[in-house]
Amino acid sequence: MEQIVLSIIRKYGSDANRLMDMLIDLQEQFGYISRQAVALLAHNLGLSQVDVEQTITFYHFLSTKPRGKYAIYLNNSAVAYMFGRQAIKEAFEKEVGIAFGQVTDDGLIGLFDTACIGMNDQEPAAIINNKVFTRLTPYRVKEIVRHMRQGLSLDELVNESYGDGKNQHPQLKAMVSSNIRRKGMILSDLYSMGKVTKEILPGMSPEAVIAEIKHSHIRGRGGAGFPTGFKWEFCRRAKGAKHYVVCNADEGEPGTFKDRVILTEKPELVFEGMAIAGYAIGGDEGILYLRYEYRYMKNYLESVLQHMRDEKLLGSNIAGIEGFNFDIRIQFGAGAYVCGEESALLESLEGKRGEPRDKPPFPVEKGYLGLPTIINNVETFATAVRIIENGGEWFTQFGTEDSTGTKILSISGDCMFPGVYEVNWGFNVEDMLDMVGAYDVQAVQVGGPSGTLIGPAEFHRTLGYSDLSTGGSMIIFGKQRNLLKDVVLNFMEFFIDESCGSCSTCRNMPQVMRNKLLKILKGKGVTSDLADLQNWGKVLLASRCGLGQTAANPIVSSLKNFRHLYEDLLQKDVEFDQGFDLETSVQGSCKYVGRIPKFHNH
Ligand code: SF4
Repeated sequence: MEQIVLSIIRKYGSDANRLMDMLIDLQEQFGYISRQAVALLAHNLGLSQVDVEQTITFYHFLSTKPRGKYAIYLNNSAVAYMFGRQAIKEAFEKEVGIAFGQVTDDGLIGLFDTACIGMNDQEPAAIINNKVFTRLTPYRVKEIVRHMRQGLSLDELVNESYGDGKNQHPQLKAMVSSNIRRKGMILSDLYSMGKVTKEILPGMSPEAVIAEIKHSHIRGRGGAGFPTGFKWEFCRRAKGAKHYVVCNADEGEPGTFKDRVILTEKPELVFEGMAIAGYAIGGDEGILYLRYEYRYMKNYLESVLQHMRDEKLLGSNIAGIEGFNFDIRIQFGAGAYVCGEESALLESLEGKRGEPRDKPPFPVEKGYLGLPTIINNVETFATAVRIIENGGEWFTQFGTEDSTGTKILSISGDCMFPGVYEVNWGFNVEDMLDMVGAYDVQAVQVGGPSGTLIGPAEFHRTLGYSDLSTGGSMIIFGKQRNLLKDVVLNFMEFFIDESCGSCSTCRNMPQVMRNKLLKILKGKGVTSDLADLQNWGKVLLASRCGLGQTAANPIVSSLKNFRHLYEDLLQKDVEFDQGFDLETSVQGSCKYVGRIPKFHNH
């Protein structure tokens, strides 16, 4: 074991900043990270054992205890439940003979829950080790477990049913489907790899590239909507020994999966966009930060990068431009929604817990390793290529005045054609529902749990930064769904699970609000509970990062747009609160994140 650990440390240059890579390799090799491995890592990287352990314990897919030769992670998102997750859970428990959270005595199989794995259009789905299994049925579960007991490899388990498009690529061979339903400038077949880099870039200065991006008025596609051209310009001006380009492919917002599809079907477009960004800011290195849930793409994406190096689209003096040296590596996360926040992502890239940094300074000045860094979303980099190819002016003809271009949506839930749709910004929700075959719709969750839940009275609204802003997740709920119990409660539990625990607001309030919601769902609620929920939601706005600031949204937006659902559950003629213990709720939340509070007895 010692020799394997040491060889993994050497593989990453004994660089403590690459701790995440080392931990993931160890987890995959041994099924857990032993005390001995922790000690070896600490000793050889100049870290304390506590440093190593605190990184391990932050991430869902890392563990200091064995997770089983086959570690099964079943998605527990709201949409997974809508499409039969409970039956799949029960089937696994019956076939394996253990409950979720346990490992079989012989160490063969472990069962675990996990948050949305980016497969909402093909649920129920699970990750087994690093392979994705989609559209599970109880019968398929029985087969999978039987084959595991027979010692079949995961490749043998997947090979009966590859998905569509490039999921069938020899380096990918994934059961996943891309489900592209509508193509626009990003997903169209018009892109030709390297054309922009070889034919257009040599005639443009870095400043001209930034000017064109600014002229397009493109805003970051990750959700925050910061103007991309300004970000690149700030970074170019920032002083530093090196400049970095980071692609945020940590799409963890439940319901979003379009980055997975772009990276499957158009990875060259994303990598070329990163290289163009590198040219613009004077960057030396690009890093694709890819969520662990997409680990199955590793070999495929590595092969694409190698192909681009062979084609001289990455490497030294790219496209014959003297001094344009740029290459890209892939670094994986290990399961933490908060790492989608750019400063948390940087911490993770540096081998630490993904706890968001205080801002300023912003990453464009002090980012990866304290050096100027731009962090953009997968879709943003892909779009940048089309802008440089066709011009910023061309781009502005698509979309609306304040939201130019197209937006790729991940649409799931109660509709006939879940999948990925590229539409112009300004698209109307009503048209979207018609497009995807959604009827008798009760509500649409726009932008995932951190977004907003709208009802039919708002379906006239349009997608755009000045109206319904979205990073791309659109979940449709039919009239048969219990919105509070099946959706809002699930979303609140997601935020409780994913809080990094740094801020007392974000550590406590989602759990306190969840408990109040449970009280209402049990028929114990009174009118003043609704005011409590509203007021407590405001407290969360004081949190340090977007996760905490939006963690109350499932309750706040459902309370605003579906107040009658709450009111129908309240006790009539009962004025005062009962059956809710605030102190117990806070204690529970502190224990959840491993911080034991001291309460005084009154
Ligand atoms: Fe961590 Fe939540 Fe605070 Fe963000 S808001 S830093 S996730 S505790």
